[in-house]
Amino acid sequence: MDSKTLILAIVPVILAGVFIHAVNAAIQQNKDGPRWWLAATATHGIGLGLISLRGVVPDVLGIVLGDMMAAGGFIIMLEGVARFAGRRVPRWQLGALAAVVVLGFPAFTWGVDSAALRFAVFGVAVIVPNLLMLSYLSVIGRRDGNLGVRLLRYTIYYFVGSLAVISVGVLLFDPDMPSVLAPNQMVALGILSLMVVETNLVFGFVLLSAGHSASVLRKAALTDHLTGLPNRRAFEALVHRALGGEAEADRKSALAVFDVDHFKHVNDTHGHDVGDAVLQHVAQVLSRAIRDTDHVARLGGEEFVALIHASSPASASDIAERARQAVEDTPYVLNGKPIPVTISAGLVEVKGVEPSLTRLFKQADTALYEAKDAGRNRVILAAA
Ligand code: GH3
Ligand code: MG
Ligand code: MG
Repeated sequence: MDSKTLILAIVPVILAGVFIHAVNAAIQQNKDGPRWWLAATATHGIGLGLISLRGVVPDVLGIVLGDMMAAGGFIIMLEGVARFAGRRVPRWQLGALAAVVVLGFPAFTWGVDSAALRFAVFGVAVIVPNLLMLSYLSVIGRRDGNLGVRLLRYTIYYFVGSLAVISVGVLLFDPDMPSVLAPNQMVALGILSLMVVETNLVFGFVLLSAGHSASVLRKAALTDHLTGLPNRRAFEALVHRALGGEAEADRKSALAVFDVDHFKHVNDTHGHDVGDAVLQHVAQVLSRAIRDTDHVARLGGEEFVALIHASSPASASDIAERARQAVEDTPYVLNGKPIPVTISAGLVEVKGVEPSLTRLFKQADTALYEAKDAGRNRVILAAA
């Protein structure tokens, strides 16, 4: 088949990609990536369109600008993936890649036309941005999950691998004048391969956006909006994970429920907004007083919970007591005036693998009521 016709056949695929990216950019919350992918796909597509018109349009368009845009699309794509990952491609890397594109293609078209120069320019302009994308994809995978990341990663392996095979093939068949439009089987195979790559790139980027939205929603579903702490649902999942494994079975821990004392009074005296600020303040003090591995969470209202790992119930009780003391020692300051805040806590020892959370919460609550009854601002460990 004729190479120019094959390349022309990719253009509608890319046009569909442009539409998909445009819609995606309009509906996504993180628009940064999709907008760059839109620009990249359009640039790339116009480039391939110009290449397919070689001989019909002047060489400066069909050869030089066509190649520059087709290759430049990958550099724009790279910057889009980096931004979507919350990073930026170092300026010098972008500058170097742009210089190769802007100087390289005119150089072998109008200057020294050597096979080595062609391979070097295509290699750097096309392969390097794709390889650089891999590290940003890893960042996205850690943040959002791996579906789109995998598709893009394997597509890049396939693309780079097939370019390598085709380059060797072209050197064998047509060593003097390697050209993207050389009429040989290897080039035709390469163009068909490019069609697979283009389609995968579009779907891969859409999957990245979808994965990001899902991870934002997942995080929101597990986070308490006011304090930023994990919420009850997240806490329950954390407890099942922490206590479910065999290795953790004999690790001692205690469930501690904390409740702000006379919190209604804070709301009534200073207003609901100040009440909210006090809850944020208590959340911070508790998180600082209790180790990260002990999973502080907000149960709702003015109640917090922690799964405290300790060698004995008594030492778990000491940790809860330290947290109580920290809250007492750190009043919330409103307009320069301290508002005293105290908390009470009920603790229960956690025993065995997969204990019933409902029962543990009930026992901790009973101990908490005892603490309230005994005058508040204290920690009580439920009787074994
Ligand atoms: P105790 O020492 O017995 O715990 O007394 P308390 O006043 O803290 O307990 P009570 O259950 O009577 O009141 C809790 C109050 O917490 C009532 C509710 O309006 C308030 N509250 C619950 N959630 C929030 C919130 O998100 N923000 C604010 N500002 N107040 C809240
Ligand atoms: Mg309460
Ligand atoms: Mg209370």
